[in-house]
Amino acid sequence: MQVVECLISKPSKGSAGKTGLWRTYKPVVDESKCNLCMLCWLYCPESVISSGGSCIVIDYEYCKGCGICSEICAKKAIEMVLEE
Ligand code: SF4
Ligand code: SF4
Repeated sequence: MQVVECLISKPSKGSAGKTGLWRTYKPVVDESKCNLCMLCWLYCPESVISSGGSCIVIDYEYCKGCGICSEICAKKAIEMVLEE
């Protein structure tokens, strides 16, 4: 019998430590553009995006600043801003 293995990614917040310390750019959400489609939530590799009612909420303690959420957002509601 042939055994087929399938690797599945299961991201979870904090699984790679406090990844917020890695960040050079920070995702900032424009609430007026966000329509809560949650595509960014689906693609975030650190699983740090959640729904906050009228807009998304990003946990900056664990957001590593990869920019995937900004790239995937069709409404261009997330801007990557240089950390101060
Ligand atoms: S992908 Fe863009 S529009 Fe959709 S929930 Fe995220 S920020 Fe909002
Ligand atoms: S930049 Fe966006 S996609 Fe990347 S870890 Fe932070 S919230 Fe998630």
